[in-house]
Amino acid sequence: MKGTVTVDESLCKGCALCIPVCPKGLLRLAGARFNARGVHPVELLDPASECTGCQLCATMCPEAAISVYRAKQAA
Ligand code: SF4
Ligand code: SF4
Repeated sequence: MKGTVTVDESLCKGCALCIPVCPKGLLRLAGARFNARGVHPVELLDPASECTGCQLCATMCPEAAISVYRAKQAA
C-alpha cells in the first residue's frame, strides 16, 4: 500500500468533483446510503491497494472532506 484516503462523510456534499481526478478510478458515490446532508457521500473502493496517495482528490475537494495518508518509504 502506498497511500489511502478517508472521507469525512459529514462534510461531503456529493458534488463528485473528486471522482474523475483520481488516476486510478478509486472513488465513487456510495449509492446505497445518504449522509446527514441528504446526499450520497464519496467512498474509496480500493481492494487492490492501488491508491498512490497523490492527493489529487483532496486538492479538488471544495469541502476539505478528504484526508490522504501516504505510507512511509523504507529507509
Ligand atoms: S490520493 Fe490519488 S490515487 Fe488515492 S484516491 Fe485520491 S486521487 Fe485516487
Ligand atoms: S469533492 Fe469533496 S464534497 Fe465533492 S463529492 Fe468529493 S469528497 Fe464529496
